Amino acid sequence: MNPVQFIREKREGLKHRREDLKAFLEGYLKEEVADYQVSAWLMAAFLRGLDPEETLWLTETMAYSGRVLDLSHLPHPVDKHSSGGVGDKVSLVVGPILAAAGCTFAKMSGRGLAHTGGTIDKLESVPGWRGEMTEREFLERAERIGLVIAAQSPDLAPLDGKLYALRDVTATVESIPLIASSIMSKKLAAGARSIVLDVKVGKGAFMKTLEEARLLAKTMVEIGQGAGRRVRALLTSMEAPLGRAVGNAIEVREAIETLKGKGPEDLLEVALRLAEESLRLEGLDPSLARRAWESGKALERFQAFLEAQGGNPRVVEDFSLLPLGEELPLASEKEGVVQEVDAYRVGLAVLALGGGRRKKGEAIDHGVGVYLLKKPGDRVERGEVLALVYHRGKGLEEALAHLREAFQLGLSASPLPLVLDAVP
Ligand code: URA
Repeated sequence: MNPVQFIREKREGLKHRREDLKAFLEGYLKEEVADYQVSAWLMAAFLRGLDPEETLWLTETMAYSGRVLDLSHLPHPVDKHSSGGVGDKVSLVVGPILAAAGCTFAKMSGRGLAHTGGTIDKLESVPGWRGEMTEREFLERAERIGLVIAAQSPDLAPLDGKLYALRDVTATVESIPLIASSIMSKKLAAGARSIVLDVKVGKGAFMKTLEEARLLAKTMVEIGQGAGRRVRALLTSMEAPLGRAVGNAIEVREAIETLKGKGPEDLLEVALRLAEESLRLEGLDPSLARRAWESGKALERFQAFLEAQGGNPRVVEDFSLLPLGEELPLASEKEGVVQEVDAYRVGLAVLALGGGRRKKGEAIDHGVGVYLLKKPGDRVERGEVLALVYHRGKGLEEALAHLREAFQLGLSASPLPLVLDAVP
């Protein structure tokens, strides 16, 4: 394989051979192919595209570039991925439900990205909880509790890490085959047999239209199936935040309330649908999901999971153990019916308060956030409280300006469906 010839091939829109693609990328990992050559190839692939076979070969090369976990000895190993949203604490509800329903939910999660939150950041608001662990600890917890969530390890799909860093600085992130292969490489390396994907669509998501989201979902499902895994994707709305809580600690609180049967309906609907799809993929009865939730067994699993990862399990009974900023009510300047609560704006508000990062590695404040008292379809009087803002002074004016923009009032509102489509 001659790297220059290889790049030229994609520049001309030709299809690569599997062994050339593998040799080029493995050459990059061994530093035999230079950064600038891979950058040129990424741009050619971005502009010319990769066909389904090339996308699968790229994914497999990334997936097997480092450590690969084997979960095949565990009962019903399942994994879940969200393409990123605002108020998206679904993993904290789906994981315990699936563990209580007899599956092994062993997952690697990330931190927040741009205006969206990350599962590891949310869980770190529980005093003592840690996402870092050895492979042995990960497998031991998966076996004993059926639920483990670890911070993404750099030795899992390291080629993806290197390529992602190059894409970030060469304007080659927003390509469906490159995004799909990047996400799926980590899922394949993490070892689950069944994978459910929650592809978010709308203002607060990275995919703004149903068409784009459907194409991303289809590409990821084809990759997973091509690699011998069972995969299903749901396309779910991210026009408004999911649930009422957006932040870190307050999202953990809402996830616990949902496991106790006192949470918001939209969050429960998405969590149960994803859990049911996972059970179906594993050949199990989907009604086990609702039973695991109703019986309180999912809540027990969540508590055991917090404890196993060093977290204080008493947060489940006592929310005052979670950090919380000062509360400020945001009153409505008008009356009407809430037509929209723009998830992107709410995400930016929490970012301004310090609940997310503007630079890689920045420290975040787990106690800040926004709790929505009004959601689309609700009637509001002038002076009525729209949301509670939890803050520490920092970025408050900016956050309030985003929140005022986020709430759009009108004469009436028609409810939008939450689960928009499924692939396949
Ligand atoms: N998330 C990933 O892991 N990879 C991408 O390319 C985009 C989002």
